Formats: sequence, structure tokens, C-alpha cells
Amino acid sequence: MVKPNSRGRGTVPWPDAVFTVAAHRMVQLPPDTGAEAAIVGRSNAGKSSALNAITGKPALARVSKTPGRTQQMVVFELKPERLLVDLPGYGYAAVPETLRQHWGGELRRYFETRACLRGLMLTMDIRHPLREGDWHMLELAATRRLPVHVLLTKADKLGRGAAGKTLVAVTKELQAQYGEVVTVQLFSAPKRDGADAARARLKVWLAGSG
Ligand code: GDP
Repeated sequence: MVKPNSRGRGTVPWPDAVFTVAAHRMVQLPPDTGAEAAIVGRSNAGKSSALNAITGKPALARVSKTPGRTQQMVVFELKPERLLVDLPGYGYAAVPETLRQHWGGELRRYFETRACLRGLMLTMDIRHPLREGDWHMLELAATRRLPVHVLLTKADKLGRGAAGKTLVAVTKELQAQYGEVVTVQLFSAPKRDGADAARARLKVWLAGSG
């Protein structure tokens, strides 16, 4: 079933999406069955806002933002056997080194072993794309040739011309490095620009199998 979203643009294919669990370790994740996508990005890049716009469910992102949960893997069931995992944001200086190391290990394990993982959405502030942590995530995904869809967020902060130039430059750089397994689009949460395209990508990843 498909319902119109709150602003009447596009459709929300997962009207019954619910928060499932906030996991500190991989073993706490739901069973490795069905199909799953993950979303990640530097802290403040606009990951929660994107999650909101894409799912059309503001309450989901609020759950992700709950203090204390910011360094957990927050799992949403979009529909049975179809999961979206909000991974811990990175690049936040105040995170203690031990926690940083913990997540380094858990994330590597997640990318290496999670069989149902179909794709990674990577949010990057269009004004500061391709920072060190972003490359690290791209490398983790590349180890299994996992599709990555980059959202260049806050596109409304740049003029149309500048945003377009950045889109071309980032796409060129990433596809030279990884090929067409990596795709890139502009995104603006307040304008809702790009939400339909991002949702379409997610739907493709989560379709089929299981
Ligand atoms: P997160 O830490 O990656 O989850 O980032 P948030 O979604 O919480 O966003 C961080 C800040 O950027 C908030 O003040 C948002 O309102 C703002 N923000 C997020 N996305 C956009 C966007 O597309 N355009 C603009 N102008 N601001 C945005």
C-alpha cells in the first residue's frame, strides 16, 4: 500500500515503518534475513533530516536523535523483512577514543558479514564533500562492491550553478575510483528536493530477495 506523504509530494511506500532496536553491538541486530539498507554520514551532515524526508516519518529520525542513541545502530523496520539501519555519525570530536575504536571494529564487521545489506546511503554536506570519514565509509562498502548512493545535502545552501558543479565533480571523482556502483544526487531537506529520487533508490535495494 502507498500513502501520500505529509506534504502531498511523492509517496511514502512504508506507512507502517517502526523503530525496532538501538544496537550497541552487531549481535543485537535483528536476524540477518530479508533485505537491509544503511544510512551514514558525518555528524551534522543532515542524515536525520534526510531520513525524515525519505521515509516521510519525522518520528523515526527523532528516535535516531535521542541523546545516548547517537552512538548506536538504530534499526527501523520499513516493512516486514525490510530494514533501514541508521549507523553512528562520525567526525564528532567529542567522541571518546575507546568508543571510536569500538565503532571502527563493529562497522568493519557489519560491512564484512551482514549478508542482507544491499546498499549504503551516504550523506555529505555539499559544502564539505569527501572528507576523511566519508572515504573510509566508501572503502568499507567497496570491499564487497556494495552500492553506495551519495546525498549531497543542504544543496539549498549553494546556488543552482555551484550545486550542479559540485554534483558533477563529486560524481566524476567517485565513479573514477569505484565505477557506477557509486551514484550521487543533490538533496535539500527543507525544499524536499531529491527525496523522491533517494526513496526510489532505497526501494530498488529493498525489492526482491526474501
Ligand atoms: P545529522 O547530525 O547528520 O543527523 O544532521 P541533522 O539532520 O540533524 O541536521 C543538522 C543541521 O543541518 C540541522 O540544523 C538541520 O536543520 C540542518 N539541515 C539538514 N539538512 C539540511 C538541508 O538540506 N538544508 C539546510 N539548509 N539545512 C539542513
